[in-house]
Amino acid sequence: MKKIYMDNNATTAVKPEVLEAMLPYFCEQFGNPSSVHWAGQMVGGAIEKARGQVAKLLNCASAEVIFLSCGSEGDNYAIKGTAEALKGKGNHIITTAVEHPAVLETCEALEKDGFAVTYLKVDQDGMLDLAELEAAITDKTILISVMWANNETGNIFPIEKIGEIAKKYKVRFHTDAVQAAGKIPVDVRKANVDMAVISGHKIGAPKGVGAMYLRRGTRISRFMHGGHQERNRRAGTHNVPGIVGLGVACESALQNMEKDYAYVRNLRDKLEKGILSSIPEVKLNGHPDADLRLPNTLNVSFDYIEGESLLLFFDMIGIAASSGSACTSGSLEPSHVMGAMGVDIVLAHSSTRFSLGSDNTEEEIDFILQELPAIVQRLREMSPLYKREGPTPLSCDDCRMVHRAYA
Ligand SMILES: *Cc1c(COP(=O)(O)O)cnc(C)c1O
Repeated sequence: MKKIYMDNNATTAVKPEVLEAMLPYFCEQFGNPSSVHWAGQMVGGAIEKARGQVAKLLNCASAEVIFLSCGSEGDNYAIKGTAEALKGKGNHIITTAVEHPAVLETCEALEKDGFAVTYLKVDQDGMLDLAELEAAITDKTILISVMWANNETGNIFPIEKIGEIAKKYKVRFHTDAVQAAGKIPVDVRKANVDMAVISGHKIGAPKGVGAMYLRRGTRISRFMHGGHQERNRRAGTHNVPGIVGLGVACESALQNMEKDYAYVRNLRDKLEKGILSSIPEVKLNGHPDADLRLPNTLNVSFDYIEGESLLLFFDMIGIAASSGSACTSGSLEPSHVMGAMGVDIVLAHSSTRFSLGSDNTEEEIDFILQELPAIVQRLREMSPLYKREGPTPLSCDDCRMVHRAYA
């Protein structure tokens, strides 16, 4: 069976040039960069090279890059570290209702510690109202945290405009740039960002490495205690191979950005147009203007069917995509992003995300477009919600039943 991977917003394969650059740092150049002897010295330079590569992608100084274990750690550090450092100034944080859990749950944890958090709403296209953002700022506001691009819809937020607002009110600005970095230009200087977070495994580097841009002079409390790595900002022995890989992935993404953008967007647009034109009662989730979404992301809802069931059918023919409902937890909670966009609960359950990468091909798009209409039709025939002639095969209106019946 042919295998088609379209879940690159969940994780990506390691790029060959990344793996190749990493290999010497396992068995040959294995030293601890904090050691003064030759083995340590051999790898110190590699880390600084990677720091420069990350800095170039984000347009900041090398000294403003901190390596960490993942994107989630970066979001936790940026938000908790700011809350702790600035709690004497204020206790108010502004974020959005559609952030990644690494931001949302960190903010929720801070609420239990006495911080007040404003979760900005989004409209039906998943976009923010900047007037609402500006109106939410008070003299107690210490942080604005808005993601650069959304992982579920691909929506790109107006980070430069938010940066202007943050500057005007002198409020610190953090952005989760995990999905944006490497896919679209992420210029932290131009956008007046104070902190930005990226993750290796979303851009062709391995899992378990990430980086954060911390603008020079930004006061932040230590998050990880221990050794004095990363100029005392982040304790823990460096993940040297991972850091080397992240550096090369950033360099590669920057070099190929225009080419990859055009290639992936063309495939995504073909998939999008094909699905919307060949299947009735399909809804696009995200901004209708494709320029305002990441080039690789397509999120659609197929009315009457459950996303998880569709994924199981997909899986049987080798297609890996993802769905908006967290069925795996058994809660069948539809995605918080769909919820915030006011997507009808049935449609939210049927939301399906295709996130492409430069390894995908036109043949794969054709294959999906060829198979999808029949799969959707079959699932609709099975759905108790679908208007059809003849007897209803399922009596239970819980979509969990649909899922179980065809698992
Ligand atoms: C994947 C992701 C993260 C978390 O990154 P990890 O490295 O997996 O911890 C954070 N934010 C967004 C938008 C993501 O897509």
